[in-house]
Amino acid sequence: MTTVDLPLLPLGRGTDLSSERGVECPGDLPPASDPDLVARALAAKEKLGDRVFVLGHHYQRDEVIAFADVTGDSFKLARDAAARPEAEFIVFCGVHFMAESADILTSADQQVVLPDLAAGCSMADMARLQQVEDCWDAFAEAGIQDQVVPVTYMNSSADIKAFCGRNGGVVCTSSNAQTVLEWAVDQKADVEGGAKILFLPDQHLGRNTAVLKLGYSLDDCVVWNPHRPNGGLTAEQLREAKMILWQGHCSVHGRFSPDTIAELRAEIPGIQILVHPECRHEVVTQADLVGSTEFIIKTVADAPAGAAFAIGTELNLVKRLADRHPDKRIVFLDRTVCFCSTMNRIDLPHLVWALESLVDGVVVNRIEVDPDTEHYAKVALERMLELPGKTQND
Ligand code: SF4
Repeated sequence: MTTVDLPLLPLGRGTDLSSERGVECPGDLPPASDPDLVARALAAKEKLGDRVFVLGHHYQRDEVIAFADVTGDSFKLARDAAARPEAEFIVFCGVHFMAESADILTSADQQVVLPDLAAGCSMADMARLQQVEDCWDAFAEAGIQDQVVPVTYMNSSADIKAFCGRNGGVVCTSSNAQTVLEWAVDQKADVEGGAKILFLPDQHLGRNTAVLKLGYSLDDCVVWNPHRPNGGLTAEQLREAKMILWQGHCSVHGRFSPDTIAELRAEIPGIQILVHPECRHEVVTQADLVGSTEFIIKTVADAPAGAAFAIGTELNLVKRLADRHPDKRIVFLDRTVCFCSTMNRIDLPHLVWALESLVDGVVVNRIEVDPDTEHYAKVALERMLELPGKTQND
Protein backbone atom coordinates (compact mmCIF):
# COMPACT_ATOMS: atom_id res chain seq x y z
CA MET A 1 0.00 0.00 0.00
CA THR A 2 1.32 3.47 -0.88
CA THR A 3 2.40 5.71 1.97
CA VAL A 4 0.44 8.94 1.96
CA ASP A 5 2.17 12.16 2.85
CA LEU A 6 -0.12 14.00 5.23
CA PRO A 7 1.81 16.68 7.06
CA LEU A 8 -0.24 18.59 9.58
CA LEU A 9 -0.76 22.15 8.40
CA PRO A 10 -2.34 24.32 11.08
CA LEU A 11 -4.65 26.98 9.74
CA GLY A 12 -2.88 29.93 8.22
CA ARG A 13 0.50 28.18 8.07
CA GLY A 14 2.18 26.48 5.17
CA THR A 15 0.76 25.89 1.73
CA ASP A 16 -1.15 23.00 0.20
CA LEU A 17 -3.26 24.41 -2.58
CA SER A 18 -4.57 21.00 -3.61
CA SER A 19 -6.19 20.27 -0.28
CA GLU A 20 -8.90 21.55 1.96
CA ARG A 21 -6.42 22.14 4.70
CA GLY A 22 -5.31 25.46 6.08
CA VAL A 23 -2.99 27.45 3.87
CA GLU A 24 -1.67 30.94 3.99
CA CYS A 25 -3.89 33.60 2.55
CA PRO A 26 -1.75 36.05 0.61
CA GLY A 27 -2.83 39.64 0.31
CA ASP A 28 -2.89 42.98 1.98
CA LEU A 29 -5.98 42.68 4.14
CA PRO A 30 -7.63 45.73 5.66
CA PRO A 31 -7.43 45.70 9.47
CA ALA A 32 -10.48 44.27 11.23
CA SER A 33 -10.66 47.52 13.21
CA ASP A 34 -11.20 49.63 10.06
CA PRO A 35 -14.50 51.46 10.77
CA ASP A 36 -15.13 51.80 7.02
CA LEU A 37 -15.25 48.09 6.20
CA VAL A 38 -19.01 48.04 5.67
CA ALA A 39 -18.90 51.13 3.47
CA ARG A 40 -15.96 49.69 1.52
CA ALA A 41 -17.74 46.39 0.90
CA LEU A 42 -20.88 48.22 -0.24
CA ALA A 43 -18.91 50.52 -2.55
CA ALA A 44 -16.98 47.63 -4.12
CA LYS A 45 -20.14 45.61 -4.67
CA GLU A 46 -21.86 48.58 -6.25
CA LYS A 47 -18.94 49.21 -8.61
CA LEU A 48 -18.92 45.57 -9.70
CA GLY A 49 -22.72 45.47 -10.16
CA ASP A 50 -23.97 42.36 -11.97
CA ARG A 51 -20.39 41.27 -12.68
CA VAL A 52 -20.18 39.82 -9.18
CA PHE A 53 -22.47 37.39 -7.37
CA VAL A 54 -21.79 36.80 -3.67
CA LEU A 55 -22.83 33.46 -2.18
CA GLY A 56 -23.22 33.08 1.60
CA HIS A 57 -23.35 29.64 3.21
CA HIS A 58 -25.75 29.30 6.16
CA TYR A 59 -22.82 28.77 8.55
CA GLN A 60 -21.15 32.09 7.74
CA ARG A 61 -20.86 35.01 10.14
CA ASP A 62 -23.60 37.68 10.08
CA GLU A 63 -21.07 40.33 8.96
CA VAL A 64 -20.51 38.30 5.79
CA ILE A 65 -24.11 37.15 5.26
CA ALA A 66 -25.08 40.84 5.17
CA PHE A 67 -23.36 41.10 1.76
CA ALA A 68 -24.57 37.82 0.26
CA ASP A 69 -26.81 38.05 -2.81
CA VAL A 70 -28.14 34.66 -1.90
CA THR A 71 -27.78 32.32 1.08
CA GLY A 72 -28.16 28.57 1.24
CA ASP A 73 -26.47 25.21 1.58
CA SER A 74 -23.47 24.31 -0.53
CA PHE A 75 -25.26 22.55 -3.38
CA LYS A 76 -28.02 25.15 -3.69
CA LEU A 77 -25.43 27.93 -3.81
CA ALA A 78 -23.44 26.20 -6.55
CA ARG A 79 -26.63 25.85 -8.60
CA ASP A 80 -27.61 29.47 -7.91
CA ALA A 81 -24.22 30.54 -9.27
CA ALA A 82 -24.75 28.44 -12.40
CA ALA A 83 -28.10 30.17 -12.90
CA ARG A 84 -26.35 33.59 -13.04
CA PRO A 85 -24.18 33.30 -16.18
CA GLU A 86 -23.94 37.09 -16.43
CA ALA A 87 -21.85 37.15 -13.24
CA GLU A 88 -18.16 36.98 -14.22
CA PHE A 89 -17.10 36.57 -10.62
CA ILE A 90 -18.62 34.25 -8.04
CA VAL A 91 -17.41 35.16 -4.56
CA PHE A 92 -18.10 32.07 -2.44
CA CYS A 93 -18.34 32.79 1.27
CA GLY A 94 -18.08 29.19 2.40
CA VAL A 95 -15.29 26.61 2.33
CA HIS A 96 -12.97 25.22 -0.32
CA PHE A 97 -14.95 22.17 -1.51
CA MET A 98 -18.02 24.38 -1.97
CA ALA A 99 -16.09 26.79 -4.18
CA GLU A 100 -14.88 23.78 -6.19
CA SER A 101 -18.47 22.60 -6.66
CA ALA A 102 -19.43 26.08 -7.86
CA ASP A 103 -16.54 26.03 -10.33
CA ILE A 104 -17.64 22.61 -11.60
CA LEU A 105 -21.25 23.70 -12.14
CA THR A 106 -20.62 27.20 -13.56
CA SER A 107 -19.44 28.03 -17.07
CA ALA A 108 -15.77 28.28 -18.04
CA ASP A 109 -16.17 32.09 -18.28
CA GLN A 110 -17.11 32.44 -14.62
CA GLN A 111 -14.32 32.73 -12.07
CA VAL A 112 -14.90 31.49 -8.53
CA VAL A 113 -13.18 33.30 -5.66
CA LEU A 114 -12.77 32.03 -2.08
CA PRO A 115 -12.00 35.11 0.06
CA ASP A 116 -9.65 33.13 2.34
CA LEU A 117 -7.81 30.08 1.02
CA ALA A 118 -7.48 28.84 4.60
CA ALA A 119 -11.23 28.17 4.66
CA GLY A 120 -11.11 24.42 4.15
CA CYS A 121 -13.22 21.65 5.66
CA SER A 122 -11.75 19.22 8.15
CA MET A 123 -14.19 16.51 7.06
CA ALA A 124 -13.31 16.82 3.38
CA ASP A 125 -9.62 16.65 4.34
CA MET A 126 -10.13 13.28 5.98
CA ALA A 127 -10.40 11.60 2.56
CA ARG A 128 -7.47 12.23 0.23
CA LEU A 129 -7.41 10.82 -3.28
CA GLN A 130 -4.33 8.66 -2.74
CA GLN A 131 -5.84 7.15 0.39
CA VAL A 132 -9.09 6.34 -1.44
CA GLU A 133 -7.21 4.80 -4.36
CA ASP A 134 -5.26 2.60 -1.90
CA CYS A 135 -8.54 1.53 -0.34
CA TRP A 136 -9.93 0.69 -3.78
CA ASP A 137 -6.86 -1.45 -4.53
CA ALA A 138 -7.38 -3.27 -1.23
CA PHE A 139 -10.95 -4.05 -2.32
CA ALA A 140 -9.53 -5.67 -5.46
CA GLU A 141 -7.13 -7.74 -3.36
CA ALA A 142 -10.01 -8.88 -1.12
CA GLY A 143 -11.99 -9.82 -4.24
CA ILE A 144 -14.87 -7.41 -3.55
CA GLN A 145 -14.16 -4.45 -5.83
CA ASP A 146 -16.80 -5.52 -8.40
CA GLN A 147 -19.43 -5.41 -5.67
CA VAL A 148 -18.66 -1.90 -4.44
CA VAL A 149 -20.29 1.38 -5.47
CA PRO A 150 -18.42 4.44 -4.13
CA VAL A 151 -20.71 7.18 -2.83
CA THR A 152 -19.36 10.50 -1.65
CA TYR A 153 -21.12 13.14 0.36
CA MET A 154 -21.23 16.59 -1.22
CA ASN A 155 -18.78 17.66 1.50
CA SER A 156 -15.73 16.22 -0.21
CA SER A 157 -13.03 17.52 -2.49
CA ALA A 158 -13.52 17.58 -6.26
CA ASP A 159 -11.02 14.78 -6.81
CA ILE A 160 -12.98 12.44 -4.51
CA LYS A 161 -16.18 13.26 -6.43
CA ALA A 162 -14.25 12.54 -9.63
CA PHE A 163 -13.04 9.21 -8.21
CA CYS A 164 -16.67 8.24 -7.68
CA GLY A 165 -17.59 9.42 -11.18
CA ARG A 166 -14.79 7.31 -12.70
CA ASN A 167 -15.74 4.19 -10.75
CA GLY A 168 -19.49 3.96 -11.29
CA GLY A 169 -20.29 5.98 -8.18
CA VAL A 170 -22.25 9.04 -7.27
CA VAL A 171 -22.52 12.09 -5.02
CA CYS A 172 -25.19 12.50 -2.34
CA THR A 173 -26.46 15.34 -0.18
CA SER A 174 -27.80 15.13 3.35
CA SER A 175 -31.36 15.24 1.94
CA ASN A 176 -31.10 12.55 -0.70
CA ALA A 177 -28.66 10.10 0.93
CA GLN A 178 -31.35 7.42 1.24
CA THR A 179 -32.39 7.65 -2.42
CA VAL A 180 -28.76 7.62 -3.53
CA LEU A 181 -27.85 4.60 -1.38
CA GLU A 182 -30.88 2.68 -2.66
CA TRP A 183 -29.77 3.48 -6.21
CA ALA A 184 -26.23 2.32 -5.39
CA VAL A 185 -27.49 -0.99 -4.00
CA ASP A 186 -29.55 -1.53 -7.18
CA GLN A 187 -26.47 -1.05 -9.36
CA LYS A 188 -24.89 -4.21 -7.96
CA ALA A 189 -28.01 -6.21 -7.08
CA ASP A 190 -27.10 -8.95 -9.58
CA VAL A 191 -23.42 -9.21 -8.71
CA GLU A 192 -22.42 -12.36 -6.87
CA GLY A 193 -22.15 -11.65 -3.14
CA GLY A 194 -24.49 -8.62 -3.37
CA ALA A 195 -23.89 -4.89 -3.29
CA LYS A 196 -21.55 -3.03 -0.99
CA ILE A 197 -21.21 0.70 -0.59
CA LEU A 198 -18.05 2.65 0.14
CA PHE A 199 -19.35 5.80 1.81
CA LEU A 200 -17.05 8.85 1.84
CA PRO A 201 -16.02 10.85 3.82
CA ASP A 202 -18.61 11.16 6.63
CA GLN A 203 -19.04 7.92 8.54
CA HIS A 204 -21.97 9.35 10.53
CA LEU A 205 -24.18 10.32 7.58
CA GLY A 206 -23.37 6.96 6.02
CA ARG A 207 -24.16 4.96 9.15
CA ASN A 208 -27.29 6.95 10.03
CA THR A 209 -28.68 6.51 6.52
CA ALA A 210 -27.80 2.82 6.23
CA VAL A 211 -29.21 1.87 9.64
CA LEU A 212 -32.16 4.24 10.02
CA LYS A 213 -33.32 4.44 6.39
CA LEU A 214 -32.15 1.25 4.67
CA GLY A 215 -32.66 -1.06 7.65
CA TYR A 216 -29.06 -2.27 7.85
CA SER A 217 -27.76 -3.40 11.22
CA LEU A 218 -24.77 -1.75 12.88
CA ASP A 219 -22.93 -5.02 12.25
CA ASP A 220 -23.46 -4.60 8.51
CA CYS A 221 -21.26 -1.49 8.73
CA VAL A 222 -17.49 -1.44 9.09
CA VAL A 223 -15.19 1.57 9.30
CA TRP A 224 -12.19 1.93 7.00
CA ASN A 225 -9.37 3.72 8.81
CA PRO A 226 -7.07 5.18 6.13
CA HIS A 227 -4.22 5.43 8.62
CA ARG A 228 -4.03 1.68 9.28
CA PRO A 229 -2.86 -1.12 6.98
CA ASN A 230 -5.81 -2.47 5.00
CA GLY A 231 -8.01 0.11 6.71
CA GLY A 232 -7.71 -1.85 9.96
CA LEU A 233 -9.98 -4.54 8.49
CA THR A 234 -9.47 -8.14 7.49
CA ALA A 235 -10.43 -9.40 4.05
CA GLU A 236 -13.13 -11.44 5.79
CA GLN A 237 -14.61 -8.33 7.42
CA LEU A 238 -14.65 -6.58 4.05
CA ARG A 239 -16.38 -9.55 2.43
CA GLU A 240 -19.07 -9.62 5.12
CA ALA A 241 -19.77 -5.88 5.29
CA LYS A 242 -22.57 -4.24 3.33
CA MET A 243 -21.54 -0.69 4.18
CA ILE A 244 -17.88 0.34 4.31
CA LEU A 245 -17.74 3.70 6.05
CA TRP A 246 -14.76 5.99 5.60
CA GLN A 247 -13.39 7.10 8.95
CA GLY A 248 -14.21 10.79 8.56
CA HIS A 249 -16.49 13.13 10.46
CA CYS A 250 -17.45 16.77 10.85
CA SER A 251 -15.60 18.38 13.73
CA VAL A 252 -18.64 20.54 14.50
CA HIS A 253 -21.48 18.01 14.29
CA GLY A 254 -19.37 15.26 15.87
CA ARG A 255 -19.26 17.22 19.14
CA PHE A 256 -22.89 16.83 20.18
CA SER A 257 -23.56 14.19 22.82
CA PRO A 258 -26.49 12.23 24.29
CA ASP A 259 -25.60 13.61 27.75
CA THR A 260 -26.49 17.13 26.73
CA ILE A 261 -29.75 15.90 25.21
CA ALA A 262 -30.71 14.32 28.54
CA GLU A 263 -29.78 17.48 30.46
CA LEU A 264 -31.77 19.75 28.16
CA ARG A 265 -34.83 17.52 28.23
CA ALA A 266 -34.77 17.69 32.04
CA GLU A 267 -34.23 21.45 32.05
CA ILE A 268 -36.73 22.52 29.36
CA PRO A 269 -39.93 20.41 29.34
CA GLY A 270 -41.31 19.85 25.85
CA ILE A 271 -38.09 20.81 24.10
CA GLN A 272 -37.54 19.16 20.71
CA ILE A 273 -34.09 17.97 19.78
CA LEU A 274 -33.41 18.91 16.17
CA VAL A 275 -30.15 17.67 14.69
CA HIS A 276 -28.26 17.22 11.45
CA PRO A 277 -27.50 13.68 10.18
CA GLU A 278 -23.76 14.41 10.37
CA CYS A 279 -24.17 13.96 14.14
CA ARG A 280 -23.11 10.70 15.78
CA HIS A 281 -25.51 7.75 15.64
CA GLU A 282 -26.21 7.81 19.39
CA VAL A 283 -27.22 11.49 19.10
CA VAL A 284 -29.38 11.02 16.02
CA THR A 285 -31.23 8.08 17.58
CA GLN A 286 -32.11 10.20 20.62
CA ALA A 287 -33.23 13.25 18.63
CA ASP A 288 -36.85 14.08 17.79
CA LEU A 289 -36.11 15.44 14.33
CA VAL A 290 -33.20 14.86 11.96
CA GLY A 291 -32.49 16.61 8.69
CA SER A 292 -30.42 18.90 6.50
CA THR A 293 -29.72 22.53 7.25
CA GLU A 294 -32.65 23.59 5.06
CA PHE A 295 -34.87 21.13 6.95
CA ILE A 296 -33.74 22.64 10.26
CA ILE A 297 -34.45 26.19 9.06
CA LYS A 298 -37.90 25.22 7.77
CA THR A 299 -38.81 23.22 10.88
CA VAL A 300 -38.11 26.19 13.12
CA ALA A 301 -39.90 28.63 10.79
CA ASP A 302 -43.02 26.43 10.61
CA ALA A 303 -43.24 25.78 14.37
CA PRO A 304 -45.86 27.66 16.42
CA ALA A 305 -44.91 30.48 18.79
CA GLY A 306 -43.67 29.12 22.10
CA ALA A 307 -42.04 26.03 20.58
CA ALA A 308 -38.65 25.10 22.01
CA PHE A 309 -35.77 23.52 20.10
CA ALA A 310 -32.26 22.43 21.00
CA ILE A 311 -30.44 22.46 17.67
CA GLY A 312 -27.41 20.39 16.78
CA THR A 313 -25.77 22.21 13.91
CA GLU A 314 -23.28 25.04 13.35
CA LEU A 315 -23.55 27.85 15.89
CA ASN A 316 -23.72 30.83 13.50
CA LEU A 317 -26.90 29.37 12.04
CA VAL A 318 -28.39 28.52 15.43
CA LYS A 319 -27.80 32.07 16.66
CA ARG A 320 -29.33 33.52 13.50
CA LEU A 321 -32.42 31.30 13.92
CA ALA A 322 -32.75 32.46 17.54
CA ASP A 323 -32.57 36.11 16.42
CA ARG A 324 -35.05 35.51 13.60
CA HIS A 325 -37.61 33.74 15.82
CA PRO A 326 -37.77 35.61 19.15
CA ASP A 327 -41.20 34.03 19.80
CA LYS A 328 -39.59 30.57 20.03
CA ARG A 329 -37.00 29.23 22.43
CA ILE A 330 -33.90 28.14 20.57
CA VAL A 331 -30.80 26.80 22.27
CA PHE A 332 -27.56 25.30 21.01
CA LEU A 333 -27.15 21.57 21.65
CA ASP A 334 -23.73 21.95 23.24
CA ARG A 335 -22.55 23.50 26.49
CA THR A 336 -19.52 25.06 24.84
CA VAL A 337 -19.40 27.56 22.00
CA CYS A 338 -18.39 25.81 18.80
CA PHE A 339 -18.29 27.53 15.44
CA CYS A 340 -16.91 25.86 12.36
CA SER A 341 -13.43 27.35 12.61
CA THR A 342 -12.71 27.13 8.90
CA MET A 343 -16.05 28.66 7.90
CA ASN A 344 -15.22 31.50 10.27
CA ARG A 345 -12.02 32.25 8.37
CA ILE A 346 -14.16 34.22 5.95
CA ASP A 347 -14.65 37.58 7.62
CA LEU A 348 -15.37 41.10 6.50
CA PRO A 349 -11.71 42.09 5.92
CA HIS A 350 -11.24 39.09 3.58
CA LEU A 351 -14.47 39.85 1.76
CA VAL A 352 -13.53 43.52 1.33
CA TRP A 353 -10.07 42.50 0.10
CA ALA A 354 -11.53 40.05 -2.45
CA LEU A 355 -14.13 42.55 -3.74
CA GLU A 356 -11.76 45.52 -3.93
CA SER A 357 -9.19 43.38 -5.76
CA LEU A 358 -11.85 42.52 -8.34
CA VAL A 359 -12.64 46.24 -8.74
CA ASP A 360 -8.91 46.76 -9.43
CA GLY A 361 -9.00 44.02 -12.06
CA VAL A 362 -7.17 41.42 -9.94
CA VAL A 363 -8.79 38.02 -9.33
CA VAL A 364 -7.49 36.77 -6.00
CA ASN A 365 -7.82 33.24 -4.55
CA ARG A 366 -9.37 31.78 -7.67
CA ILE A 367 -10.59 28.18 -7.22
CA GLU A 368 -10.22 26.26 -10.45
CA VAL A 369 -10.81 22.54 -10.87
CA ASP A 370 -8.74 20.90 -13.63
CA PRO A 371 -10.77 19.74 -16.68
CA ASP A 372 -10.35 15.99 -16.14
CA THR A 373 -11.38 16.17 -12.47
CA GLU A 374 -14.25 18.46 -13.41
CA HIS A 375 -15.48 16.05 -16.07
CA TYR A 376 -15.64 13.02 -13.76
CA ALA A 377 -16.94 14.99 -10.78
CA LYS A 378 -19.77 16.14 -13.05
CA VAL A 379 -20.46 12.52 -14.03
CA ALA A 380 -20.99 11.70 -10.33
CA LEU A 381 -23.09 14.83 -9.76
CA GLU A 382 -25.23 14.17 -12.82
CA ARG A 383 -25.94 10.61 -11.69
CA MET A 384 -27.31 12.15 -8.49
CA LEU A 385 -29.35 14.77 -10.33
CA GLU A 386 -31.04 12.09 -12.43
CA LEU A 387 -32.48 10.54 -9.26
CA PRO A 388 -35.83 11.73 -7.91
CA GLY A 389 -36.11 13.77 -4.72
CA LYS A 390 -34.52 16.65 -2.93
CA THR A 391 -30.90 17.66 -3.22
CA GLN A 392 -30.51 19.94 -0.23
CA ASN A 393 -27.22 19.60 1.52
CA ASP A 394 -25.40 20.48 4.73
S1 SF4 B 1 -19.36 22.40 9.51
FE1 SF4 B 1 -18.23 20.44 9.33
S2 SF4 B 1 -18.66 19.69 7.25
FE2 SF4 B 1 -19.22 21.89 7.32
S3 SF4 B 1 -17.37 22.98 6.60
FE3 SF4 B 1 -17.24 22.89 8.87
S4 SF4 B 1 -16.05 21.01 9.28
FE4 SF4 B 1 -16.73 20.88 7.14
